[in-house]
Amino acid sequence: MNDRPKLVHAPTEGFPMQDDRLTVGGIPLDRLAARVGQTPFYAYDRKLLSRRVAELREHLPPSISLHYAMKANPMPAVVDHMAREVDGIDVASGRELRVALDAGMDPQEISFAGPGKHAGELAQAIASGVLINVESPTELKTIARLANELKAMARIAIRVNPDFELKSSGMKMGGGPKQFGIDAEQLPELLPTIAHPLVFEGFHIFSGSQNLKAEAIIEAQIKALALAVRLAAFAPGPVRMLNIGGGFGIPYFPGESRFDLAAVGVHLHALVDEAKRVLPEAELVVELGRYLVGEAGVYVSRVIDRKVSRGQVFLVTDGGLHHHLSASGNFGQVIRKNYPVAIGTRANDGEREIASVVGPLCTPLDLLADRMDLACADIGDLVVVFQSGAYGLTASPGHFLSHPPAVEVLV
Ligand SMILES: *Cc1c(COP(=O)(O)O)cnc(C)c1O
Repeated sequence: MNDRPKLVHAPTEGFPMQDDRLTVGGIPLDRLAARVGQTPFYAYDRKLLSRRVAELREHLPPSISLHYAMKANPMPAVVDHMAREVDGIDVASGRELRVALDAGMDPQEISFAGPGKHAGELAQAIASGVLINVESPTELKTIARLANELKAMARIAIRVNPDFELKSSGMKMGGGPKQFGIDAEQLPELLPTIAHPLVFEGFHIFSGSQNLKAEAIIEAQIKALALAVRLAAFAPGPVRMLNIGGGFGIPYFPGESRFDLAAVGVHLHALVDEAKRVLPEAELVVELGRYLVGEAGVYVSRVIDRKVSRGQVFLVTDGGLHHHLSASGNFGQVIRKNYPVAIGTRANDGEREIASVVGPLCTPLDLLADRMDLACADIGDLVVVFQSGAYGLTASPGHFLSHPPAVEVLV
């Protein structure tokens, strides 16, 4: 926004200012806080969620299935909304599976990944008819046994630990020794053993997350297809589904920017054509978490105290790492950097100062903004953390220090 020169790095266009107030879904922030009934809270904007999906559809080939990895944000109202927008939902636990089914998602379009699925969860998956992404040879045996007990067939895909890594990915989840998936080298022996009551549907090849480089994403997709083609030679049936992962990142920190979605889209059109030739029966799936929901959410807390310690201004808020671990820098960051933060109840072009935003926990880790350039704020003002729609509340240690939980709303 050009009225916010100090926030050029903050991807905040979705939440415009109106009369010195930040708005969420058109509602001024102080009004929204009153409507929610408490601070701190997370607010997600349903229009922004829909807009992101529309943007993707514009660039991706129509035959690609778009899946939502709901661990990014499992709030039931968000999952309900996404269930109507996307082609499938990827779940990572028995409880997520129930939420996806409650949202009305067709079990045919739900897949279940994750190491260490216990027997109860696997039975849930078989009984509901969802696709299980198998993470180990032991799990494969357990699924066959449970399916026999349930007198049902079990739809499975093999999650492959690829023999390549997603370059410049924020979180590597494939390549080398990993707890995820089955090593590509083990599959020529394992694949031919898959038989009734297991129904082989294809491969899940997910190599990483939070990638902001289009070339790296494209390279991983090319390698995923090539690997699937190699493995298909050993498969007990045709590959009907190929999940080529996701890894689409969003900018969190100064200097980061969005990756070139158009470039990835152009490449995917070519990849779909190639796949039609080499794996003619395969539906291609892209699974995305944070890219779908991350930029549509804010975390809002209220300033409880304002103090100056040896010249440094501290805004002490009622929210902190117990609700938003990732903004505090303690969810996988090596060097702590500030998420985009703003005072949502002050004009951005008014008086400004360097201030730190901290939470109420008795640990120096409870830091939401470290010496940031912010509008001057006082007790009662609302602090907004952007890029908070993914890996927020459910990725945080909510019980630490026994403060009240945050509320979530979909606006
Ligand atoms: C976590 C996860 C995702 C989503 O990752 P994002 O970075 O949120 O897009 C997708 N697929 C699998 C298998 C995952 O574990």
